[in-house]
Amino acid sequence: MVFERIGDIQAFLTPYLEDDKKIGFVPTMGFLHEGHLRLVKRSMAENDLTVLSIFVNPIQFNNPEDLKKYPRDVSRDLEMLQQLGCDVVFVPSTEEMYPENIVKTYDLGRLEEVMEGVFRPGHFQGVAVVVHKLFEIVAPHQAYFGQKDYQQLQVIRRLVEIESIPVRIVACETVREADGLAMSSRNVRLGEEERQIAPDIYLALKYAKDLVPTTNPQEVRFRVRDRLNAIQGFQLEYFEIADARTLAPILSWSDCKEGAVACVAGYLGGVRLIDNMLL
Ligand code: AMP
Repeated sequence: MVFERIGDIQAFLTPYLEDDKKIGFVPTMGFLHEGHLRLVKRSMAENDLTVLSIFVNPIQFNNPEDLKKYPRDVSRDLEMLQQLGCDVVFVPSTEEMYPENIVKTYDLGRLEEVMEGVFRPGHFQGVAVVVHKLFEIVAPHQAYFGQKDYQQLQVIRRLVEIESIPVRIVACETVREADGLAMSSRNVRLGEEERQIAPDIYLALKYAKDLVPTTNPQEVRFRVRDRLNAIQGFQLEYFEIADARTLAPILSWSDCKEGAVACVAGYLGGVRLIDNMLL
């Protein structure tokens, strides 16, 4: 079942909610790949009904060119979902989602002042607005997000906490290509040569992890940044080692009680790639 209107999907979901059926939700921007499908499969295994949304959210793009070039193919997405047996797909238009000016802002604290927050001003406010609205529409019991977008995952957790949204957030491991490149809708925009080079980003994260037992965080930053800067054609935006929960940069491994995460972002041939690894 494919829905384009908020009223229609809500009318469809209401009997399930009244019947105490468990709804799982997977928000996406479409152009689906195995990373997305893994979230769908997990949701299907853990809920009575799974809803997937496809919406390229304009207000989370700080770069108009990136929004314009974002890959889209809804009919291909729908075919992939049908093969999986995913029950319900929500594909709203921008007018349907944002009929009036968006005025709400969220207190995301330090989470939007580091890493992606610095390089994509306003991005996480846009994410918070759309995910909050989608949660209100779908009213899921559980919602599935990838660790691929690690900072986004922490933002969603904070959103749920500050808005007291009754949903359980389920984090799913990053799905990678055989050579280590994290799957992303944007990968199709990589040229042949860039596609060959892209796994070096993953290898740099692995190098960071290998350094942990013998090297302090600052030294790891220096060495891994050098390595990333040496990747041909890669323009590094940031490589950071942060507390896995607060995402504050750390100076000592003992500073973070819930572990550390290494996060990287940069451009390869005009395509923005991000990746991360828990250390
Ligand atoms: P997107 O369509 O890129 O906004 O992603 C929708 C959801 O899929 C988000 O929760 C992402 O974190 C997740 N996702 C995207 N790529 C991957 C991947 N390679 N592995 C796991 N989850 C992913």
